[in-house]
Amino acid sequence: METRLTVPISADNLETAEEQIKAASIAGAEMLELRTDYLTQLSVDLVRQLIGEARDIAGLPIIVTCRDKRQGGARKYPLQLRLDVLVAAAEKGTEFVDFEYENFLVTENQEKIERVLAGSKSRLIISAHNFKGRFDNIRKLYRDIETLYPAAIPKLVYTAEHINDCFEAFDLLNKKRGDAIIFCMGAAGLVSRIIAKKLGSFVTFASIDEQSATAPGQLTIKDCKELYRYDDIKPDTQLYGVIADPVGHSLSPNVHNACFAAADMNKLYLPLLVQAGAERFDEFMDHILSRNYLDFKGFSVTIPHKANALEYTKSRFGFVEPLAEKIGAANTLIIGGPRAASHEPRATSNERRIRAYNTDYAGALDAIASAMDIEWEDLRALPTAVLGAGGVARAVVAGLADVGAKIKIYNRTVKKAERLAAEFGCEYAGLDELKTLDAKLVINCTSIGMKKTEDRKQKTEAQMPKASHERRATSHETPVPAEFLKEDMVVFDTVYNPAETLFLKQAKKIGAKTITGLDMFLNQAAAQFKLFTDTQADMKLMRRIVYERLIG
Ligand code: NAP
Repeated sequence: METRLTVPISADNLETAEEQIKAASIAGAEMLELRTDYLTQLSVDLVRQLIGEARDIAGLPIIVTCRDKRQGGARKYPLQLRLDVLVAAAEKGTEFVDFEYENFLVTENQEKIERVLAGSKSRLIISAHNFKGRFDNIRKLYRDIETLYPAAIPKLVYTAEHINDCFEAFDLLNKKRGDAIIFCMGAAGLVSRIIAKKLGSFVTFASIDEQSATAPGQLTIKDCKELYRYDDIKPDTQLYGVIADPVGHSLSPNVHNACFAAADMNKLYLPLLVQAGAERFDEFMDHILSRNYLDFKGFSVTIPHKANALEYTKSRFGFVEPLAEKIGAANTLIIGGPRAASHEPRATSNERRIRAYNTDYAGALDAIASAMDIEWEDLRALPTAVLGAGGVARAVVAGLADVGAKIKIYNRTVKKAERLAAEFGCEYAGLDELKTLDAKLVINCTSIGMKKTEDRKQKTEAQMPKASHERRATSHETPVPAEFLKEDMVVFDTVYNPAETLFLKQAKKIGAKTITGLDMFLNQAAAQFKLFTDTQADMKLMRRIVYERLIG
């Protein structure tokens, strides 16, 4: 049976409920869950009326729920009233009624529900929620519900504190015998709501909009359908994703899913919030590699896991692209699949071998070469200034050094510039020396000029720079004062939000050629797409999607 995309109706009165039902129906809901515990004036009559309205407006299958406050209910209604509501719903022939497992264990409640179900078309969903974390033993809980009432649909929902908590939900869904609803709540569990369809969960829930969500991490129906290709997900859909923390700001799901859809590929790209820590990253990858049934085929990797991705691949004897090794970071992982180049090792008996690449340097070099209308090799001996000595600077310097550019690194912390310069045979200086800048190509790899995002705001105080000299950069700043720029320079800003930084605006004003961070982002995403699919990405489509997301 296909998973039904179910929209909870969480209104406190009949009129608002009707509006929500209309909106859900228009948005493409396949089932409605009437969350009657949200109604302020809850009565059996009101629920009967609501069911009638829902049938008339949407004509969709209905779950009636009157959730216990202890299990996430909106209001504290007495058990007797909640039972009466479910009995009335079953008598009215709603397709499903949902009752909590711990209340169903009470003989009196069980008898009442069983009695009404015996003479009705309704099917029982027996649910258990844990808002604090994982269940002690989810497999046992599932078996207990199955044994207690075999005709029921077990619904097990818990909070994932880390994405690694989701795997037991996936395993259970994968092994289930009958219908079951199993997924995780919270930001780390978000993907389980989408993967639920691939694994055949009986329903997955999505809200009409963010305000009407009834559980943490619930996606909107629009995102499910438009961003995460809900209607196209099948049991054999291959999965990809971006591993990051934070991940909410990432443009990668937008661009890769749009390209998969345009090429009619049975592939889906997900945002994977893998919270920081090499150990947790390794655990995540081990979970993925030991579960062929999930069909994960590739990952984009970004902050804070690029070095972890490289180390993991080495530790599992995977293939590492030589320049990725030199950069010390991988931003692309490929699981299994054909060799991308002849110098890569042949597949061993280990079908799920892993390969690590870095498409950041290639994205930067492609963006430069295309803007200057030259080949990579033509960058040899080009006087180049790289501002910054962090992760992106490292990838850009490695790529440019590999083609023989003449590089000088400028950084706020001169020690870091010195270390990077020593590794790649470059010159270095502090930012104060920019006044004598005479490079032909100037590349900003610092975060100066970057717009702050919601995700960044959510970072805790502990993650913020502490020393006053480590002040955070803002979008009103530029790494190079305008008076140091020259008309014959090519000015490249790797910062891509905003699309045109103050640095680029000032360079453009004096007639210099400019390259945006989006050019680099799009080129590295296209290189990833090639590694993922062995086909060229539709760059025009990628560009349009990114501009729509950033500029609106
Ligand atoms: P990172 O490793 O944290 O490095 C940040 C760099 O910025 C360091 O060199 C740091 O100098 C410098 N910096 C930060 N704030 C500064 C300030 N207020 N004044 C002077 N220097 C400052 O970060 P990253 O991963 O390299 O990312 C850098 C930027 O690249 C990001 O902000 C992002 O916008 C951009 N990016 C672009 C793409 C793309 O595809 N276009 C991809 C990834 C990232 P210190 O060493 O002195 O701290």
